[in-house]
Amino acid sequence: MNRKDIFVTYGNTPKSMINELLLASKIEKDIKQSDLIGIKPNLVVAKPSTLGATTTPEIVEGIVEYLQGRGFKNIAILEGAWIGDSTTRAFKICGYEEISKKYNVPLIDTQKDGYRVYSYNGMDININDAAMKVDFMINVPVLKAHCQTNITCALKNMKGCIPDMEKRRFHTIGLHKPIAYLNKLLRQDFVVVDGLMGDLTFEEGGNPVQMDRMIAGKDPVLIDTYGAQLLGYDIGDVPYIKMAGDIGVGSYDLDRAHIKVLNHDYNIKRIKPTYRAKELAKYIEEQEACSACYGSLIRALDRLDQRSLENLREKIHIGQGFKNHTGEGIGCGSCAKGFKDHVLGCPPGTKGILEWIQTITKGV
Ligand code: SF4
Repeated sequence: MNRKDIFVTYGNTPKSMINELLLASKIEKDIKQSDLIGIKPNLVVAKPSTLGATTTPEIVEGIVEYLQGRGFKNIAILEGAWIGDSTTRAFKICGYEEISKKYNVPLIDTQKDGYRVYSYNGMDININDAAMKVDFMINVPVLKAHCQTNITCALKNMKGCIPDMEKRRFHTIGLHKPIAYLNKLLRQDFVVVDGLMGDLTFEEGGNPVQMDRMIAGKDPVLIDTYGAQLLGYDIGDVPYIKMAGDIGVGSYDLDRAHIKVLNHDYNIKRIKPTYRAKELAKYIEEQEACSACYGSLIRALDRLDQRSLENLREKIHIGQGFKNHTGEGIGCGSCAKGFKDHVLGCPPGTKGILEWIQTITKGV
């Protein structure tokens, strides 16, 4: 795998999906047997991953199994919850205590760890000692929305490797620049994105949207650029991505990325939509839609302004049940291409859906 590669797999079986991504990536080739391997999930709050905020524990379990099966013994899981919560509680509630016991892998609570100051381009940043000691960092963020930065994924997840007082300071000096600079100082060698159930609006969860996908790559800037467009954003909407690219953390040139889909999934089993997702479902006519497809449409509808939503005079058809339909109406995804107005893709991306709806609702 090189830094331009992005591997994507669809489904809702995290254990087999992570195995598939690791087999394709062959990360073991980049790690020495003596290396300390750090796995950094997102456990921002003490809530189970089904609520859309935290990393699915089976993904981390799959990484540990894969590495231990290849003789790597020096592995640690490190994380620091946000200021309002306790990492110890998050480790317990999110299922990481069990992983630690089962595989004999230590859990490092960075809220209790020491730290030192490092500098980049005139900015001092305190970073936890445990994170700086790691020889090979595997970042396992959740792709989800964030109320201040629009999205959070690989780059922002590294904020769990700084002490609480530094997290507070990041907010007072504007999040974007310090996030970009932190990523210049702190290594990450491989990224696995948990895109199974990211939250629609907030990083603390509560509004989960089933997206049924996982993504892997080596370049966190490229991964975040890809993740942003999956949620319907350009990198202009998420300044820290471009800043990180401009200082050499990685590349945001998605046109030159090699995106390889390892596996499609036509699963139509979905969790019941809640709150905002439930409200948006009234704009959709669905018949056997794959979860990944439906999730992309919900996210696109969430990004629309109220006027465009009001201009949607008819429901958007989506799902395998519309494969044989031809005629009037609007359809989302390749299965609904028989509708007069439609957007293609299997599944289509949120950004493409968003632009398409904006076009058909303009001037209505
Ligand atoms: S276009 Fe059809 S088959 Fe493809 S993801 Fe959507 S519903 Fe599933």
